Amino acid sequence: MASQTIATRVLIVGAGPVGLTLAIDLAWRGIDVTIVERRHAGEPPEPKCNHVSARSMEVYRRLGIAAMLRDVGLPADFPNDASYRTSFIGTEFARISIPCRRDRFTDKSGPDGHWPTPEPPHRANQIFLEPVIFQHALALPSVTILNRTQIESLEQNDDEVVATVRNLDTGEITRIVSRYLVGCDGGKSTVRRAIGAQLEGDAVVQRVQATFIRAPDLIGLQQHKRSWMTNAVNQRRVGNVIAIDGRERWMIFNYLKPDEADFDSVDRDWAIRTILGVGPEFRYEVLSKEDWYGRRLIANKFREGRVFIAGDAAHIWVPYAGYGMNAGIADATNLSWLLAAHLNGWAPAEILHAYEAERWPITEQVSRFAMAHAEKEIGRRGAVPAAIEAPGPEGDRARAEMGRLCYDINVHQYCCGGLNFGIYYDASPIIAYDGTAHPAFSLSEFTPSTVPGCRTPHVWLSDGRSLYDAMGVEYTLLRLDPGVDVSPLVAAARQRRVPLAVVDLDSREATGLYVTKLVLSRPDQHVAWRGDACPEDALALVDLVRGAGPKSDGRCEFLCRAFRIKTERFVRALVRRFYYGTAFNMRRTRSPMASTRRGITENIQKYRGSPWAVFCIPNIKDVLRGMTS
Ligand SMILES: Cc1cc2nc3c(=O)[nH]c(=O)nc-3n(C[C@H](O)[C@H](O)[C@H](O)COP(=O)(O)OP(=O)(O)OC[C@H]3O[C@@H](n4cnc5c(N)ncnc54)[C@H](O)[C@@H]3O)c2cc1C
Repeated sequence: MASQTIATRVLIVGAGPVGLTLAIDLAWRGIDVTIVERRHAGEPPEPKCNHVSARSMEVYRRLGIAAMLRDVGLPADFPNDASYRTSFIGTEFARISIPCRRDRFTDKSGPDGHWPTPEPPHRANQIFLEPVIFQHALALPSVTILNRTQIESLEQNDDEVVATVRNLDTGEITRIVSRYLVGCDGGKSTVRRAIGAQLEGDAVVQRVQATFIRAPDLIGLQQHKRSWMTNAVNQRRVGNVIAIDGRERWMIFNYLKPDEADFDSVDRDWAIRTILGVGPEFRYEVLSKEDWYGRRLIANKFREGRVFIAGDAAHIWVPYAGYGMNAGIADATNLSWLLAAHLNGWAPAEILHAYEAERWPITEQVSRFAMAHAEKEIGRRGAVPAAIEAPGPEGDRARAEMGRLCYDINVHQYCCGGLNFGIYYDASPIIAYDGTAHPAFSLSEFTPSTVPGCRTPHVWLSDGRSLYDAMGVEYTLLRLDPGVDVSPLVAAARQRRVPLAVVDLDSREATGLYVTKLVLSRPDQHVAWRGDACPEDALALVDLVRGAGPKSDGRCEFLCRAFRIKTERFVRALVRRFYYGTAFNMRRTRSPMASTRRGITENIQKYRGSPWAVFCIPNIKDVLRGMTS
């Protein structure tokens, strides 16, 4: 029996990087939040993610914590390079150059030097990142963090979510009543299970023995320049050595070979020494072991009613290109503004449909990028030439060849501009598309663009400010020609109480990049609309971007696009939402005919205003027309 009840607007489960970022972003938009977290206050996580992407750093800049984050991580002069050697202390045969923290903003040479952003990527392990964002969240008056607290169960109705949580030290049970609940509770998410979401995809892509060690003498043994990630390649073992603090703590990944039965079938100590290239006399201390499977799994839904999932709770994949945690941070920033728009009263609940419509397809796509990269890496690891450690010309040839291969495969994941800035939302119910195709992107390649759905391209303003620093908290109308009358859009936004800032974009860089005179940028810095003048019906545009647009048309377009792209998922969704919904309603009536009619009618009413409404009889024709056009 619960001893007390707490009320909050949004309950977040899990204070990992995703939950904390969501809480800070919501608080920044004026929403009070409660987080429940199993761990002790400030207890660091296992050393996992080492890379804070440029896009995540842009988010943290907006939230006022980028500078604090830049101060943690590897020592300022520690090279962030990725090197390839026969062992950690062996012969180097390739190096991907990445500027160190001190030179991050000045060193434009090399494949990772040029980033069109005020916030290039940052190398800091999660054990350093999380305490900074935790302390920042803790200090915010509208964020309450309940540590040593675990969610046990949840129930929802049309108005609220009621969660039952337990204090792990005292056993005390509390009820937390919220308008919305977001599960950011990691790969083994309780919330994901509670909403009946299933992980689908590839359960095992690779198996990795992971050992966190302390070895102060290691740094001095290498014959080459230091690097953040040292990849050891020899025929006995292939693995990585990651510098965690740049002094004495290292993470070692030992990749299991296909014929090795399980984690215990490989002698951990022998594997570590082989990867490092050291003998039995070398001393190191094991700090922790957390063997892991590389997977490609995505939840088949990100939402049920008032409950959402984000981050590892919604997707898990091999974190190549640093896009495990960073994809979760992107979920958090997408969901945050949608929730805040609704809770702050300027958008209907329908705006929340955009979360799944935007994040699910892009998550699927990114997971496949990571998977494709994993397959190349698995191929490379399995094809180490016998002469890789040989002295003389034969060994030199083998190393040069392997060096080229390692560089060519991996430069794309370490310098992954495409994953940061190429991503776009092409099937959103709240974006006004203009028929222009989105520019293609890959792991590393992208074309900045104002096609609706793309990230609002960053430029430096003539007064030296970053465009992102000049933009408003919510919507921003960027005007490239000060002569264009924006009053119709401003008036329409005011009428609907949509916060809208107008910024005159005075920048030489914008020429050729911003091809229209007006660009409407969303609160998450993606383009919502563009044009040379305000649309004739400015109110209709404002309604569309706040989730109150014409229901059937927008939703049909979204679902028909989704149908072409993801047939299986679409059909499953159809069965789940329509058939089961109708069947559920049918059980409550007596006559079979009446029950069918009533079931369908009730189902139409139940899903009115949601994307699933298109399955209801009047709109199904539109769906079919859309599918065949
Ligand atoms: C070895 C390794 C290396 C990685 N490297 C990278 C990288 O370089 N780049 C990258 O982007 N990603 C990387 N990742 C992935 C990254 O660590 C995760 O994607 C990231 O931690 C996910 O953040 P999250 O907040 O979603 O979940 P988590 O970090 O797992 O946080 C979930 C939180 O929820 C809490 N919790 C769980 N259940 C409950 C409950 N029932 N009640 C209350 N609280 C609960 C947990 O205690 C935890 O604090 C790596 C992962 C691994 C394993």
